[in-house]
Amino acid sequence: MAADLLQFAFGLIKVFWLLLPAVLLVKLLRSRRCKGWLGERRVRRAVRRQFGGADCRLFSNLLLPTKDGSTQLDHLLIVPQGFFVIETKNMRGKISGGRQERDWTQEIGGQTRSFQNPLRQNYKHTKTLHELLGISEQQIFSLVVFVGSNSFGTPMPDNVVDLDGLISFIKARKKRLFSPERIEAAVKAIQAVRLQDSFRNRRRHVQHVRAIAAAKQRQQQPCPLCGAEMRLREARQSRRPFWGCSKFPQCRGARDA
Ligand SMILES: [Zn+2]
Repeated sequence: MAADLLQFAFGLIKVFWLLLPAVLLVKLLRSRRCKGWLGERRVRRAVRRQFGGADCRLFSNLLLPTKDGSTQLDHLLIVPQGFFVIETKNMRGKISGGRQERDWTQEIGGQTRSFQNPLRQNYKHTKTLHELLGISEQQIFSLVVFVGSNSFGTPMPDNVVDLDGLISFIKARKKRLFSPERIEAAVKAIQAVRLQDSFRNRRRHVQHVRAIAAAKQRQQQPCPLCGAEMRLREARQSRRPFWGCSKFPQCRGARDA
């Protein structure tokens, strides 16, 4: 009797250890990060298949410097017909949103969550490219591609496509805007300015954004002596920055920067 029970317990433990990796794997595959990665891989493969010629260049996970840190492009396809900046969204459920709206929504399993309008997110990417490379904004096309089993609750805004729509959108541009030399020069410029997509760079970017926010907050705090606004100044000898009262020299209120 006791032996049976023991055997049963061992059986349970065995099943548990067999199931655990499967459960963890399913959890991992359903995580947002993994979905993002899988979605990006699908897009990369589809684009490579269609645009693999000598005059086509594809960058994926392109981290570019901006004035206030960095910005990450999922994909940048460069072909003679233009620069295509592609933002990938791997999402299920019903998606709703308009071109001008700040936030879009995803309805899934009776729950609704909002996320940043990806067209706005991608606008920063096209602007960065325009500023870094001097390419006209009319020659840069912003595209948001939705992969995964989803549908739109509102009409899909322009420049928002599925995987097939992405390919046909690019193929529909017939006019050649760039010579092979121009493309080569742009590729060289990107290779020179791009940041390594390393853990360190991503962490540095996050720290940088936080530092800006903290500095802004300190500036908004008034002078501890008279309540006037503070200005960022530099110590005369040590050259160390500090917040000084805007009423200086009448007031000598100061705070560390
Ligand atoms: Zn003061």
